[in-house]
Amino acid sequence: MEKLKKFLLAEKEIPENWYNIQADMPNPTLPPLHPGTLQPVGPQDLAPLFPMELIKQEVSKERWIGIPEEVRDIYRMWRPSPLYRAYAFEKLLDTPAKIYYKYEGGSPAGSHKPNTAVPQAYYNMKEGVKRLTTETGAGQWGSALSFACNHFGIDLEIYMVKVSYDQKPYRKFMMNVWGAKVFSSPTNTTESGRKILAEDPNSPGSLGIAISEAVERAITAGNTKYSLGSVLNHVLMHQTVIGLESIKQFELAQDFPDVVIGCFGGGSNFAGISFPFLGLNFREGKKVRCIAAEPSSCPKLTKGQFRYDFGDTAGFTPLIPMYTLGHTFIPESIHAGGLRYHGAGALVSQLLKDKLIEAQDFHQLECFDAGIKFARTEGIIPAPESTHAIACAVKEALIAKEEGTPKTILFNLSGHGYFDMSAYDSYLSGKLVEHRLTEKELHADLNKLNTPLIP
Ligand SMILES: *Cc1c(COP(=O)(O)O)cnc(C)c1O
Repeated sequence: MEKLKKFLLAEKEIPENWYNIQADMPNPTLPPLHPGTLQPVGPQDLAPLFPMELIKQEVSKERWIGIPEEVRDIYRMWRPSPLYRAYAFEKLLDTPAKIYYKYEGGSPAGSHKPNTAVPQAYYNMKEGVKRLTTETGAGQWGSALSFACNHFGIDLEIYMVKVSYDQKPYRKFMMNVWGAKVFSSPTNTTESGRKILAEDPNSPGSLGIAISEAVERAITAGNTKYSLGSVLNHVLMHQTVIGLESIKQFELAQDFPDVVIGCFGGGSNFAGISFPFLGLNFREGKKVRCIAAEPSSCPKLTKGQFRYDFGDTAGFTPLIPMYTLGHTFIPESIHAGGLRYHGAGALVSQLLKDKLIEAQDFHQLECFDAGIKFARTEGIIPAPESTHAIACAVKEALIAKEEGTPKTILFNLSGHGYFDMSAYDSYLSGKLVEHRLTEKELHADLNKLNTPLIP
């Protein structure tokens, strides 16, 4: 076969269905609980926040869920995304392993996040919603949802964590270009925001506060709903277009991965690349290893507890069965802002509990080192989040070298890092320091939890 660098699918091969792993996983997830009554929450509890179609998808056990044509039409702008073979990177690592990467940075917002932002905006539009609210930290999710809402004529209000709003204005400008209103959170326009400002007028904000403001606004304003960029089952499912395309692209490559890797914030891009392969494990007896790569400074999967916890810092959401460091855990301000989340989605948590997936943690310096090596061989400058997947691929490739056995590695390159150049500058000028989490720091917030443990 001719030596090919990229494996491209035709537009008509954009998947027609999303893959719902709930149809195939051996043990279902436990239900989310109402924090007051500790009873399972029903669709009616979620109806003020989400459109009915997304609530249905959240609990569906159907294996395949059709992607609306209107959504596929927007996916056409950047999907199918390319699968690349990393020849130069392999050579630098001097490994017998073959390394492939699926590149999601070619979307308008520069990451995998539009894969779910587009259907979420679409279903809201179909159900007559006029305005969405959301929160954003570093701005990846806010920019993806701005792009999607602009397309379907929905107003979008974004509560952006104040420190990022002040320090990273470029993502905010992007949101403005796509017509979104961006507020520096905490604001004085919501009850939750005013309460924080009364205590500390100079509060730098946090993702938890921003969620509280966005949710409050969605509940109190007319014709308004709320949208979340990770963690929830339907969000993870929308991302499976990544893995479904990859399976077809490996047919073109006449190859198949032994190991599939995704970096891990709340679980959406990891699920996107790995769930379709796990489906093959479940249905066809394949033995693909799927590894979630998380930051050592926020190690919920490798060092957290599997128990019920809140999805947000303020404790507004239902209790979710998940691996968590405690909802009040505030990680070090590493540059991979998208991975600074205290918990993990319920689906991914159950799969880890059942030992059907693996998790590994990586330190920031090791990740930037891998990211720079990748940029110098493959050209693309990866998002700081994505460098965690690259560091994991390097580790697996070096194990293959040590053992002298070939293996095929696939990782998801979840986004580009062109808005994160100051992080690369810090690394290259030696200003980036390693933060080692102590046992005490690790357990402090878990010890404070009084939410139900799961036996
Ligand atoms: C948001 C983000 C992540 C982390 O979120 P997940 O839901 O875990 O995928 C990873 N990579 C990039 C580029 C992101 O923007």
